[in-house]
Amino acid sequence: MNPSLLIPEPIIMLHLFRARWRDLIPAECPGCARRVSGQGLCPACRGALGRCPSVPRCAWCQHPLVQGRCPDCSRAAPACDRIVSAFDYLGVGQRLIQAYKLQGQLSLASLLVQELETAILAAGWAAAGPPQCIVPVPARAAALRQRGFSPPAEVARQLARRLGIPYRLGALRRLHEGPRQAALPRSARLTSQQGLLASASPVDGLRVAVVDDVMTTGATLMACRAVLVEAGAVQVEAWVLARALQFGPCSISSSSNPKSRPTPAM
Ligand SMILES: [Zn+2]
Ligand SMILES: [Zn+2]
Repeated sequence: MNPSLLIPEPIIMLHLFRARWRDLIPAECPGCARRVSGQGLCPACRGALGRCPSVPRCAWCQHPLVQGRCPDCSRAAPACDRIVSAFDYLGVGQRLIQAYKLQGQLSLASLLVQELETAILAAGWAAAGPPQCIVPVPARAAALRQRGFSPPAEVARQLARRLGIPYRLGALRRLHEGPRQAALPRSARLTSQQGLLASASPVDGLRVAVVDDVMTTGATLMACRAVLVEAGAVQVEAWVLARALQFGPCSISSSSNPKSRPTPAM
């Protein structure tokens, strides 16, 4: 039986009315704070959300190539077997991530998840097939206490539901908190995640997608991949909302680095 038939009609009508009412009330565009009708981005922000025009890009991590080399992947193995990002961490995308992650605007999750889902479906599934589980990068306990939610976990949970892929919150866990990446220079950040993570449930023989909000150096994703492969995963790809650009014409300044801003108390 259709589950909706079990819901009393007045309740269905109330939900429909609320959804319609939300569409009619002028709201603020989360990208520029201008008044818009309905929810979501205004047309200008919608058009501006995207990528730095700098090309070409690294086939693995999507960072613009610098003098023909990828600054991240040329120093070591790629962070994951494949990386899909929804947009670059700049402009409108940067403001959305900061509002979601640093200001705790949890309501932005669905908009961000839609952007990432679009990028994933546009990229197509890897040759071996779609991931068999979706795993969030585990949050640091202090950040979780301050924010009240885990930005990667909320994105992963909603994405799993939309794509119909099992969500495995506990597949990765933190053994130690480690230093905040913000406090470390880039060279130290590249190795700071080693030994901090462990697998908390078996992923034997599975294709796994790891979800994070922003990819900066790729060190966290690389550590996640190593742990999951050790636990038996046969493929680990990364899905991230935004790719921070560290070199080249669209590189971010240190003051706007997503990993270097203080986390406001909720
Ligand atoms: Zn706007
Ligand atoms: Zn690369």
